[in-house]
Amino acid sequence: MNTTKESILKEAASSCNACKQCAPLGACIAFKGIEGALPMLHGSQGCATYIRRYLISHFRETMDIASSNFSEETTIFGGNKNFNTGIDNIISQYHPKVIAIASTCLAETIGEDVQRLIYEYQATHTVETGHDPSLPEMVFASTPSYQGTHYEGFHEAVFATVKALAKKKTTSNPFSLHQLNLFCNLISPEDIRHLKEIVADFSIKAMIFPDYSDTLDGTSWDSYQRIPEGGTSIEAIENSLWAVSSLELGTILNTLTQSAGEYLQDTFGVKNFRTGLPIGIRETDKFIEILRSFSSPPVGDLGGFPEKYQKQRGRLVDLYFDGHKYVSMKRAVIYGEEDLVVGLAAFAAEIGIIPVLCATGGESGKLEETLKEALGDLYSDEIAVGQGMTFEAMEETIRNRDLHPDLFIGNSKGYYLARKLDIPIVRAGFPIHDRIGAQHNRLLGYEGTTMLFEQIVNTLLEEKQRKSSIGYKYM
Ligand code: SF4
Repeated sequence: MNTTKESILKEAASSCNACKQCAPLGACIAFKGIEGALPMLHGSQGCATYIRRYLISHFRETMDIASSNFSEETTIFGGNKNFNTGIDNIISQYHPKVIAIASTCLAETIGEDVQRLIYEYQATHTVETGHDPSLPEMVFASTPSYQGTHYEGFHEAVFATVKALAKKKTTSNPFSLHQLNLFCNLISPEDIRHLKEIVADFSIKAMIFPDYSDTLDGTSWDSYQRIPEGGTSIEAIENSLWAVSSLELGTILNTLTQSAGEYLQDTFGVKNFRTGLPIGIRETDKFIEILRSFSSPPVGDLGGFPEKYQKQRGRLVDLYFDGHKYVSMKRAVIYGEEDLVVGLAAFAAEIGIIPVLCATGGESGKLEETLKEALGDLYSDEIAVGQGMTFEAMEETIRNRDLHPDLFIGNSKGYYLARKLDIPIVRAGFPIHDRIGAQHNRLLGYEGTTMLFEQIVNTLLEEKQRKSSIGYKYM
């Protein structure tokens, strides 16, 4: 075990209340961002039930996820019969454009070759010219949970989808369709909508993937939609290989195989850029600067900085002036997916909050170096960094190192620990199961930062009021 002050890697024979979710769960979120797709889990029924339940409680939407329903017999003799029956049922009942398959732990443990199962299924459904064109596209992401978290599962699904659909340059250049691939990371539907608005305001034609802004945050329906409308179209993903550039939000992303942007760069020469999640002024400035370089001709004043965003930025700076005295030198525990932790910590540091513990269930080995890079001169030795963490390990770290946090910033899985330590939580990331509106949480850009800053200040003020024996009404 590495027990240096800066880095904590918790290793144990078993873990309890891990600071992560399972890999195919993350894959299902990404698959929901493909138009006309139905996610399918190759494995046992319980995995699908847990994942459906978990996603419903966060997004508050219906969640159709198919399963090949392994039994004892399947576990011993293999799952190809269940796989074929499952695909038949999905096609006849859902008529999807894409069947997006993720493997569960059990299927991976017994060594199921899902790609081969797909080939065999397609081979039995051929016409003279090849595959039956009425067959849906099939995408497969290998997502054993013992090798990664929901975050790796999400990015593995993004990579697998692009690899499966953006195959070769068979059509002529449909360049007018888009010029930028924006891989937006695991963010809220509201943040996806906000990104779409921003790139449109910069006159950038972009393919945003995965786009679950409608499929996981829809309107009310008159009748049930088995596959909700919305998502990135197959055509747009196919044409991603024609884009001039890709921009990936997040710098750690998929450490298991490759990111989608890396794949397109290596295979088709689409130049790949990365930047951190645009939370806070400094990270949003970097994001806007990149968009300005893509925006041709430049829109707005200042060589491509629309007035709308100048004003948003100005209002945020003004808000920092108003609220800095409430946040200065407060101590926060920040936890969740690695790139989110980096984005939140960079923001916290810029407003004067000390991120005393940055914790994640991921084990990329890159969190500490990425934090140092993102925080720059705001990085300090007071920051403890923990990967492969459970909430029990976080409690131990908080107590043993006398961290005395004033605030938790992260998902609702931290609630029990926050309650035990009598510390308020600002809920951010995934999952949020104990509040409604998680799908509308905006963190990104100047506006998202404004909302987050206000939430943090108001949470601290409320806590001060709650603990005061006097009862302040003027703060
Ligand atoms: S067995 Fe694996 S895939 Fe299934 S729910 Fe558990 S961690 Fe997820």
